[in-house]
Amino acid sequence: MTTTTNPITNLQSTTTLSNGVRMPWFGLGVFKVEEGAELIEAIKAAVKHGYRSIDTAAIYENESGVGQGIREALSESGLSRDQLFVTSKVWNADLGYEQTLAAFETSLTKLGLDYLDLYLIHWPVAGKYKEAWRALETLYKQGRVKAIGVSNFQIHHLKDLMETAEIKPMINQVELHPLLTQQELHSFAKEQSIQLEAWSPLMQGQLFEHPVLQEVAAKHCKSVAQVILRWDLQRGIITIPKSTKEQRIIENANVFDFELTSGDMEQIEALNENRRVGPDPDNFDF
Ligand code: NDP
Repeated sequence: MTTTTNPITNLQSTTTLSNGVRMPWFGLGVFKVEEGAELIEAIKAAVKHGYRSIDTAAIYENESGVGQGIREALSESGLSRDQLFVTSKVWNADLGYEQTLAAFETSLTKLGLDYLDLYLIHWPVAGKYKEAWRALETLYKQGRVKAIGVSNFQIHHLKDLMETAEIKPMINQVELHPLLTQQELHSFAKEQSIQLEAWSPLMQGQLFEHPVLQEVAAKHCKSVAQVILRWDLQRGIITIPKSTKEQRIIENANVFDFELTSGDMEQIEALNENRRVGPDPDNFDF
């Protein structure tokens, strides 16, 4: 492994964030998964197959179901709460000191948890994220959340936030995949000891026919999804692919028995087109 000090050997392997908290390199995303059996089963399947990290957000409107899934997964597996890593995010409408504190309580209540492992500012809404960050600092100091961070922050947002922040964000979760490799942001984050985390690592399913990725996958007898997720890990980037299908939950995590060569890594890196599936953090209106 080139970019990390801790070896990444399995689904429970962790990176150590700047405050010493250990966060799994690999997790399950649950964007667009509605409350109900599918969500609960996906979380149970993920935990059963070794996942230890779940990524949700207030805006996904599924925190109650995520909480139910977590409770059932813990009781089935015999794991304890501290063996799971749970992330949620404060939505744009709730950015503000008091509003963000209240939004955090709402998320915790829905999840049925008494602390979060990671709480993120979901989007860098101009003029609002600094007050929200003060709230995250308060929650962190109170021990209600083990780590705090941001999402969809560009370099200039991070610089602006850090001008006044007492505590540096430990995470920046951004859209990142082979067509949006985020090299500059990755370098900046590394310099600042901010761990980068990839959302839509599979570009929401749009990369499976890519000829270069198919070629690399065939060479390693792996799927395109596995190649992409392995590429994230070898770059030292946390990854949280979403699937509700047990077979894909297993497949996506089956990335610890092969290694991409530096040539493979460069070939994938060269696919960058700065192409997004999600909104542009410098031009959004929500
Ligand atoms: P992903 O890139 O993870 O792709 C998910 C899609 O790919 C789903 O349609 C899934 O379908 C399909 N899929 C997953 N694995 C496979 C596979 N092995 N073979 C074929 N198809 C597969 O997209 P997401 O946008 O969901 O991103 C991941 C997570 O990142 C989210 O769930 C969320 O937690 C987070 N996120 C954060 C954002 C932010 O602003 N901070 C924004 C967007 C996402 P199926 O379920 O049917 O298998």
